[in-house]
Amino acid sequence: MSDGRHTCPVCGYAQLEEPHLDAVGEPTYSICPSCGTQFGADDLTTSHEALRKLWLDGGAAWWSEAKPAPAGWSASAQLESAGFAATPKHG
Ligand SMILES: [Zn+2]
Repeated sequence: MSDGRHTCPVCGYAQLEEPHLDAVGEPTYSICPSCGTQFGADDLTTSHEALRKLWLDGGAAWWSEAKPAPAGWSASAQLESAGFAATPKHG
């Protein structure tokens, strides 16, 4: 069940044209235009959660210059709809 789009496990961007892992679980080396994570590279040694925190700490700005942000794009709305709380939970 897929509309052909995939959700970034780091920032929650839901319009990825490629998944971060292929059908056999290998990284696709695609780059999320929202947070700039390259799957198979950036997430080899850093968890998706840590990458998300880095992105948030950096201002959670749209990353790609080649692919503009969708109209009305909002990092916080994107994170919320993906179920990624914008505020870290501690305890
Ligand atoms: Zn992303």
